[in-house]
Amino acid sequence: MSEAPKDFIREIIDEDIKSGRFGGRVHTRFPPEPNGYLHIGHAKSALLNYWIAKEYGGKFNLRFDDTNPEKESQEYVDAIKRDLRWLGIDWEDREFYASDYYEQLYQWAEELIKKGKAYVCDLSPEEVSEYRGKAIIQDGKVITPPGRESPYRNRSVEENLDLFRRMRAGEFPDGSKTLRAKIDMAHPNLNMRDPVMYRIMRVPHYRTGTKWCIYPTYDWAHGQSDSIEGITHSICTLEFEDHRPLYDWFLDQLGVHHPRQIEFARLNLTYTVMSKRYLLQLVQEGYVRGWDDPRMPTLAGMRRRGYTPEAIHEFVRRVGVSKRESITELELLEHCVRQDLNKRALRRLAVLDPLKVVITNYPDDKVEWLEAINNPEDPSAGTRQIPFSKVIYIERDDFMENPPKDFYRLAPGREVRLRYAYFIKCADVIKDAHGKVIELHCTYDPATRGGDAPDGRKVKATIHWVSAQHAIEAEVRLYDKLFTKPDPLDVPEGHDWKENINPNSLIVLTHCKLEPSLADAKVGDRFQFERKGYFCVDPDSTPERLVFNRTVTLKGEWEKVRQQG
Ligand code: ATP
Ligand code: MG
Repeated sequence: MSEAPKDFIREIIDEDIKSGRFGGRVHTRFPPEPNGYLHIGHAKSALLNYWIAKEYGGKFNLRFDDTNPEKESQEYVDAIKRDLRWLGIDWEDREFYASDYYEQLYQWAEELIKKGKAYVCDLSPEEVSEYRGKAIIQDGKVITPPGRESPYRNRSVEENLDLFRRMRAGEFPDGSKTLRAKIDMAHPNLNMRDPVMYRIMRVPHYRTGTKWCIYPTYDWAHGQSDSIEGITHSICTLEFEDHRPLYDWFLDQLGVHHPRQIEFARLNLTYTVMSKRYLLQLVQEGYVRGWDDPRMPTLAGMRRRGYTPEAIHEFVRRVGVSKRESITELELLEHCVRQDLNKRALRRLAVLDPLKVVITNYPDDKVEWLEAINNPEDPSAGTRQIPFSKVIYIERDDFMENPPKDFYRLAPGREVRLRYAYFIKCADVIKDAHGKVIELHCTYDPATRGGDAPDGRKVKATIHWVSAQHAIEAEVRLYDKLFTKPDPLDVPEGHDWKENINPNSLIVLTHCKLEPSLADAKVGDRFQFERKGYFCVDPDSTPERLVFNRTVTLKGEWEKVRQQG
């Protein structure tokens, strides 16, 4: 790796090590909420935390931040673990759950009550937010006029303790009371205006069942969980910057181990939504086939589509970390995928939209096995034999009956090279009753075997082909962007963002013809179909019929712009 300057997070950590804070330790965590599958933004956060722990010889925890029973499930926990392992993240035995800390969190809450730092409040959620007040613009400046104190704010410690214990015991209806931190209702930061720590909610939790009917809020659970685990650097996204004073306040009141919270800008990608809330809608409303649909920005979708963990690593490295919000182009991710697959994918010949070609002067029953290179980028990948015979398929769009000037491929009377085989020349065009071209009759020049003419004559194009009698049939799924706009959430007032869904994001080709060596391809195997792109075997494949996903085309906008210099 190049000697890039250190990013601001690593600079902060370096300083902490130098000053002896945390005894020179580095301990990070990735804290997903198991309420959906991981997306590429989570990959950035997870890799960042994991890499930092490795670089500094520190520790890395996986912690499920599971304090919201309404939306969480074991299915999501399992999916998250599967995706992190696939990314190459190894948390060893350091797998934790915020729900395992419920008792400790409860005890700490009692401690705050006893210190007069928390109280039970009977205001409704609407009243709580109304009393808190809100930011307004005055003389062009954002200001937060002081809020109002809850009428329950000055309950005695004894009364608060009694009520809180009865909240836990299930004596009060859902939503009728909360436990709130007693901080400052005039604080300029709204998060500090007596934030809620517990709400009453009779919802079974996927791990604790019905043991609890009060659940901690994110703000109360998160920092304390970091503390329990001995985390040193709690790296999170920018929206938590305004929560940092609260993060610090709770830990200071408790006088326990106090990690440092560091915020960075989240990853945003063009043509993608990246919030589990939106992704869930796409899944539940049937716009995609599931969380692992190859068009989804989820890791499960990307894996199914044929993206490699290495390409995602490279992408995350290139994007880097910053304090400034920005939007990364989807093309950069695709470029990283292409570069990685170019190095590793075996080349194969596959005709996606077949047109039959009969080579009239080739012997009827003859079959020749021709040598083909597996990967020009990697000589160790070797070669393979591909069969050639009298009837072959070529790509329908490699032929034009009346070609424009700049079309150099097959046309009546025109000669082209068949990759690894011979020159062929088009003699006759056969059409059906509707005038559709259904077959070509060509002649081949036996002297051009291997691809060159001894007399030195040239052809302007080389096309791919597959021997008809040896071909295997497959289904190929071509994917395009899931949205028609770089920012899918950009919709006029009163419109739904899902109107920006691209109706042509999936094209299914059902009669593709592949060279026979692909018969052994296994689910997840990746190939370059020459001239067509990178493809990967989909789990929908059966022993009778392979299904391929197009991972990415051979060239994208990124490559084109760079070629222009
Ligand atoms: P979403 O908004 O997609 O639902 P979230 O933040 O609610 O995401 P969590 O499961 O809480 O999802 O996220 C786990 C970790 O991943 C958090 O530390 C969060 O800050 C980080 N994270 C989430 N989205 C991104 C992103 N787009 N870029 C970088 N980090 C992210
Ligand atoms: Mg979250």
